[in-house]
Amino acid sequence: MVPFLRKRKVTKFSMKKIVTRKEMLEVATDLRRKGLSIGFVPTMGFLHEGHMSLVERARKENDVVVVSIFVNPTQFGPNEDFASYPRDLEHDEALLEFLTDYLFCPSVDEMSEVSEGVKFDPGELVNCLCGISRPTHFQGVAQVVSKLFRLVQPTRVYFGQKDYQQTVVVRHLIREHFGDVELVVCSTAREKDGLAMSSRNVYLTSDERTQATVLFRALTAGLALLKSGEVETDVVIGEMEELILQQPLARIDYIDIRTVENLAEVEKVKSPVVLALAVYFGKTRLIDNVLFTPSNAT
Ligand code: AMP
Repeated sequence: MVPFLRKRKVTKFSMKKIVTRKEMLEVATDLRRKGLSIGFVPTMGFLHEGHMSLVERARKENDVVVVSIFVNPTQFGPNEDFASYPRDLEHDEALLEFLTDYLFCPSVDEMSEVSEGVKFDPGELVNCLCGISRPTHFQGVAQVVSKLFRLVQPTRVYFGQKDYQQTVVVRHLIREHFGDVELVVCSTAREKDGLAMSSRNVYLTSDERTQATVLFRALTAGLALLKSGEVETDVVIGEMEELILQQPLARIDYIDIRTVENLAEVEKVKSPVVLALAVYFGKTRLIDNVLFTPSNAT
């Protein structure tokens, strides 16, 4: 058994694997007709404890749990790692069978035929943060997520705060097109030294892995400054930048502070904000974020 499941009391579910849209739609339609709630966790696989925390939460809150594994080509840019993105379906299945009722893992061909997508323009939400260096990414995410929602018909969907901008885009997508779906955002699972768990961490060399701990240290330092009463975002960002630049292998993509709702620019922190960053170590781009609400928030 997988080490972190060994510690827990688990029931083995008879997980069913589904690979066609047709079967997924039929199964989901039947479940909803029976009045059962469906908790849905969309993933790209190569699962780690971060993903599993979403699956566990879905298990607790729903009658039925559906997990999808689909490495979606439309959310990767031309020079990104679609082909080399880590995959290990056998390992993923072993993790999921203890918590999941249905594993939906369609092929790229199967999903590219789908006409179930919706028209959605994320607009200003993607003209910042990761949207700058990944200009087509969120449109690709919105497209595949809407197709999956149409097929799986979830009651609740589970996304990680780790990909904060993604949760904002999905929240707006749900508001526009899937009004009865509840979005549950789960906190970021971290390694013991603070590094956010990510399927891409396997790309890091040992030196890069050591230096990558600076991401969470910088976010924690930024948070501490805000908690001490600093309101100027420039000052906080400057402090975080200084810390990160002490690591010779780090190359900053962005460090930013934005409003939690719409990712609008902030000069002085007076309402809830997200401190977000993306940093390259070699070819590997890591992201992380933390949230802050001032005690006298307006
Ligand atoms: P991915 O497979 O990277 O597309 O991630 C699938 C889901 O898992 C997304 O909602 C992610 O935000 C979430 N996720 C990834 N890493 C973590 C983490 N360290 N903690 C919590 N959720 C995560």
